[in-house]
Amino acid sequence: MLFPLSEDLKTISTRLEDFTPSLTTRVYDIRGRLIGEFFTERREYAHLEEIPPLLQKAFIASEDQNFFRHPGLDPLGILRALWQNLLNLRVVEGGSTITQQLSRSRFLDNRRNLERKIKELLLAILLERRYTKEEILEAYLNQIYLGHGVYGVKAAARLYFGKDLADLTLAEMAMLAGVARSPSYFSPYIDFSAAQRQQRRVLRRMLECGFITQEEFEKALSAPIVLSGLEKRASLCPYFLDHLLKELRTTFEDWQIFSGGLKIYTTLDADIQKVANEALKESGYQGAILCIDPTNGYIKAMVGGRSYEESKFNRATQAHRQPGSTFKPFIYAAALDSGFTPSSILVDEPLEFPNGWKPQNYERIFRGPMTLREALEKSVNIIGIKLLQEVGIDKVIQYARKMGIRSNLRRDLSLALGTSELTLLELTTAYSAFANGGMVPEPLAILRVEDTAGHVLYERTPVVRRALSPETAYIMARLLQGVIERGTGRRAAIGRPAAGKTGTTEDFIDAWFVGFTPNLVCGIFLGNDDRKPLGPQKTGGIIAAPLFARVMKEALKDTPPHDFSCPEGVVEIAVCLKTGLLPSPSCKTVVLPFKRGTTPQTVCTSCP
Ligand SMILES: [Zn+2]
Repeated sequence: MLFPLSEDLKTISTRLEDFTPSLTTRVYDIRGRLIGEFFTERREYAHLEEIPPLLQKAFIASEDQNFFRHPGLDPLGILRALWQNLLNLRVVEGGSTITQQLSRSRFLDNRRNLERKIKELLLAILLERRYTKEEILEAYLNQIYLGHGVYGVKAAARLYFGKDLADLTLAEMAMLAGVARSPSYFSPYIDFSAAQRQQRRVLRRMLECGFITQEEFEKALSAPIVLSGLEKRASLCPYFLDHLLKELRTTFEDWQIFSGGLKIYTTLDADIQKVANEALKESGYQGAILCIDPTNGYIKAMVGGRSYEESKFNRATQAHRQPGSTFKPFIYAAALDSGFTPSSILVDEPLEFPNGWKPQNYERIFRGPMTLREALEKSVNIIGIKLLQEVGIDKVIQYARKMGIRSNLRRDLSLALGTSELTLLELTTAYSAFANGGMVPEPLAILRVEDTAGHVLYERTPVVRRALSPETAYIMARLLQGVIERGTGRRAAIGRPAAGKTGTTEDFIDAWFVGFTPNLVCGIFLGNDDRKPLGPQKTGGIIAAPLFARVMKEALKDTPPHDFSCPEGVVEIAVCLKTGLLPSPSCKTVVLPFKRGTTPQTVCTSCP
């Protein structure tokens, strides 16, 4: 031997069945409580005689056509891979025989460095010396990862087709062999058409190898594939676990996630998640609930739908929907930085644009002159549009972007009515800026991933950026507090300082409430996947706001109430409720925040 055998190679088990020790990966919430597991389903071992010869050939055709001829390595394949490595100045995969793939699965450390590559080749040669081709193939077909936590062809046949190995059709066998290339991309549960493309590739290789006839090839190509459906997973936070998986897959291989025994520490709070689950389920509506800590972006609860069994589509992160009036605060924030104050007067009146557009208020009435405060509390569309016109579409879009909205935004005045579709995650994150003195966090789900020995393999820390001045953020928080105290969001009241905004779209298709305290932001979205109306008068204020109240009350029950903290540059004074001017003795008053130097200077003369 040219290379000294390291511990790894010396401790090679002599039993092929022992390959890939499978350890459950555990997921913990913010307080260290177990909230989920990623694991390999119990492997069902299949002896080679149980595995249909055609299925064996499908894998051989797909992965290693010369399997029965080469000595464990495919010299041409290795030369090709080495040449690629030289070209790329790094180690890329390639030229791997079935034996090499089997030996690779011995190394839990999946780094693609040269040392590991050499060990892998040496082990492949050792395997070939010690075992027959049939034994190697059997081990391979039992240990290969085939997606969704499943190893081996026997369990995979059940996972995908609900069948015993003996009942598989050629079309199904080819699809199974195709999945092996990269289960997270080619699983028919993840991307059916990608799975079909792989199936076609495998069938073509089988045809080229002479394993099947032209007639069998064509018949298999047109044979229908019926999937058995993924097993139901009852869990506290299935949508959140899916969300985690996406992030984990940017760093870890599936086999590490499902059998590497990782410990994943997350930001979720099981208590808040539980109440959010119940709130959505009992509401009877389809939708999503998301809770974020505005100070650090920790996702405290994520409900992506009323039933994961019914649909795995995550409506908190994946559904792009019209936000309706929950978009208005972006306009108001930009307006506060463009010379407007809570007392600025705008006129609610009929508008007609040159293109014939005649926007309406929700109540189909026009109220005449009113303050900015009242317009936001009552969610007056006309004033939203006028403000957008005054401030400028580009500036408002710029504000939305700074606050974390990434979806496309329409460059026209209908933007004021929330016609540009976005996700609950974007919206809830953006509102964090109001709750957190103008600082907006990146949403965070995973804090830390450790291996079985407790070594930290992956770590994330909060990233928080300034999106608004502390003054503007505070004034917005107070104005949005008025929405709950006096406006469209009264059903969101929770008996402590809280702020938020309702949203309802045309024909009651979407209902929203996004609200917050200084400690927690909670976004509620309700709406049918097919965009069927929720029903008459099912507004955000009526059906979404109560869910906010329910979740927040429970989530904050152990947290003392906090006021939004008023920054240096803001003064709060009592003004006339109606006109926003300094109050006369006969005025009803409200305390409003103003940037220093912008308080009203004249006394109200309108109140009798
Ligand atoms: Zn007055």
